[in-house]
Amino acid sequence: MKAAVLERLEQMTIKEVEAPAVPDDGILMKVHAVGICGSDIRIYHHGNSRVTLPQILGHEAAGQIVAVGKSVNKFQVGDRISLGADVPCGECVFCEAGIGNNCQINYAMGYQYPGSFAEYVLLNKMVVNFGPIHKIADHIPYEEAALAEPLACVLNGLELSDVKIGDTVVVLGAGPIGCPRHPRAAFPAAPGNRPRLRRRGRIHLLQRGRRNQAGVGGNRRFGRRRCHNVQPISGSAG
Ligand SMILES: [Zn+2]
Ligand SMILES: [Zn+2]
Repeated sequence: MKAAVLERLEQMTIKEVEAPAVPDDGILMKVHAVGICGSDIRIYHHGNSRVTLPQILGHEAAGQIVAVGKSVNKFQVGDRISLGADVPCGECVFCEAGIGNNCQINYAMGYQYPGSFAEYVLLNKMVVNFGPIHKIADHIPYEEAALAEPLACVLNGLELSDVKIGDTVVVLGAGPIGCPRHPRAAFPAAPGNRPRLRRRGRIHLLQRGRRNQAGVGGNRRFGRRRCHNVQPISGSAG
C-alpha cells in the first residue's frame, strides 16, 4: 500500500510499504479521509518522545472497514467509521476509573501505532477494545467524519469552560480548532452574537509572545522557536 512515512525530521516520503496483516483481534480500515493536525506538523518538525521514526502519522481519519479478525464482533466489514487519536489501555488505575484521558500508557494512533497517512490503517486489539472508533451514518461524508476528533476537542473544551449564551468570550487562535470553538459556531442562534476576528490583536499577542518566548503565537518561525523552548521542559508533550 502507499503511505506517507516520516522517515526523519522534516522528511516525509510517499512510498510503498507492506499492508498490515490483520490479527484475529484487530481490524483494517481503508482510509478515505484524514486531516493534518497541528500535532502532526509539530512532530514533522520537532519529533515527539512518543513517536519513534520512521512512522506513519495521522489520527484525524475516517474510512471503511475492509477486514475484521475472527474474534472481533463489535465491527463488520463495510462499517463506515471515524477515528480519534488517544487509545486508553483499559487496565491502569485511570482507565478503570473511567477517565482514560489520563491513561498512564498514553498510546495514540500516529504516535506509537502507525497512523492514517496511508491507504490502510490497522486498528489493533487495544484500539478495537478501548480506542476512539465510532460508526458513522451513511449520509455523513468521510471528509466531515474525519473532523470528529478535532471537533470533539472543541466540544470538550466548551463543556469544561462552561460557556453560556450571553457570555463574552475571548478565543485565542483562529485556526481549525479555534474557529469551531467560536461562539458563532457553538451558539449560532444566540441573540446579539457578533463575533469578530481582530487580526491586529492577534499580531499584538504575537509580538508579546516573542518577548516572552513562551507566549501565544501562530507565526511559523516564532512557533518553531516556541516548540524548541517548550518541548524540553515538557518532555516533548508540549
Ligand atoms: Zn489532532
Ligand atoms: Zn490506562
